[in-house]
Amino acid sequence: SRVNNPYEGAKVYVNPEWSAKAAAEPGGSRVANQPTGVWLDRIAAIEGVNGGMGLRDHLDEALTQKGSGELVVQLVIYNLPGRDCSALASNGELGPTEIGRYKTEYIDPIAAILADSKYAGLRIVTTVEIDSLPNLVTNTGSRPTATPACDVMKANGNYEKGVGYALNKLGDAGNVYNYIDAGHHGWIGWDDNFGPSADIFKVAATSEGATVNDVHGFIVNTANYGATKETNFTIDDSVNGTSVRQSKWVDWNRYTDEQSFAQAFRTKLVSVGFNSDIGMLIDTSRNGWGGANRPTGPGAKTTVDTYVDGGRYDRRIHLGNWCNQAGAGLGERPKAAPAAGIDAYVWMKPPGESDGSSKEIPNNEGKGFDRMCDPTYTGNARNGNNLSGALPDAPVSGQWFSAQFQELMKNAYPAL
Ligand code: BGC
Repeated sequence: SRVNNPYEGAKVYVNPEWSAKAAAEPGGSRVANQPTGVWLDRIAAIEGVNGGMGLRDHLDEALTQKGSGELVVQLVIYNLPGRDCSALASNGELGPTEIGRYKTEYIDPIAAILADSKYAGLRIVTTVEIDSLPNLVTNTGSRPTATPACDVMKANGNYEKGVGYALNKLGDAGNVYNYIDAGHHGWIGWDDNFGPSADIFKVAATSEGATVNDVHGFIVNTANYGATKETNFTIDDSVNGTSVRQSKWVDWNRYTDEQSFAQAFRTKLVSVGFNSDIGMLIDTSRNGWGGANRPTGPGAKTTVDTYVDGGRYDRRIHLGNWCNQAGAGLGERPKAAPAAGIDAYVWMKPPGESDGSSKEIPNNEGKGFDRMCDPTYTGNARNGNNLSGALPDAPVSGQWFSAQFQELMKNAYPAL
């Protein structure tokens, strides 16, 4: 009963809680009617946190928004044991061994609600466990980027088991469309990571009763800042005989942007056994990079670095920076079938919600303080020991960050 691309011919659910926060900001009414992801980031989110909307409240509201047409609801499944093993900002409520609670207290109740026949007319997109499987590839073992917490999750197998269990149980409802998180080009785009990531996704998607038929596609760039298309240079360009792959920015990556990465990775995933009709989603919520500093053409062909740095839209200090990036803007508005192999541009990360606090802030969600969110931090192996590029004075991840929302609107591309 599933359609090939759930976004085609469908509206997408506008989360009233996010919409109200956006609308309350000066100028926010310009984007408050955009659809964004609903993050089920803890067990309590299923019933609603602090009197807020729970999953059934969202699905009931979705039925209202749907009317007689088609409507996609976008859910983010995000509560693995030992969550966010390479960073601290989105550590979660479940310890590394709590796979049992993940299954019975988190996935099972969500799956039961999604399977309610009342909601059978909705197209329910689930994006499954942001950053988890990529972390097992890049941040474990003998890699200089390894962390002890990711080594633990690799050894105990609970990320693969959790993802497999989620795909299997959520996929039991014929109107659920599972998309696995596949990182982004500035992470999985290197040869060392590309094939091994596809392989580990296949392992997870065929564990705990899941099969590749439980996978409708993959999402890239979730909550990240990589540009959708870098049009001022391509990976095949060279300057004075030196490939742009040798520039400091590209640093031997195979891809320069999210769309070329997503399309190539789709092909790779099919080659390892995923269905040939899988589709990709690109999170464009914060990758616009417009505003006064947006390059208007290619950089000078003095060196590969002047060429790439002068032309790139993505103005991060380093591709590995990920927290509340200064200078970022809202990206492409959500849109169905924007390019070959791409099911949709989506705003999965709700713009204006923080990636992590700039200083330690006590909280009861398990969220840690990651110095990648501190603008004075000079980095680690995962961002080439560069400044973090983060905005100051940010609240804990997931909390509303007004100053960032204003900056995102100011630097929107396309402009608002
Ligand atoms: C946080 C979640 C939040 C999500 C969306 C993540 O970084 O850890 O708590 O729901 O962002 O803003």
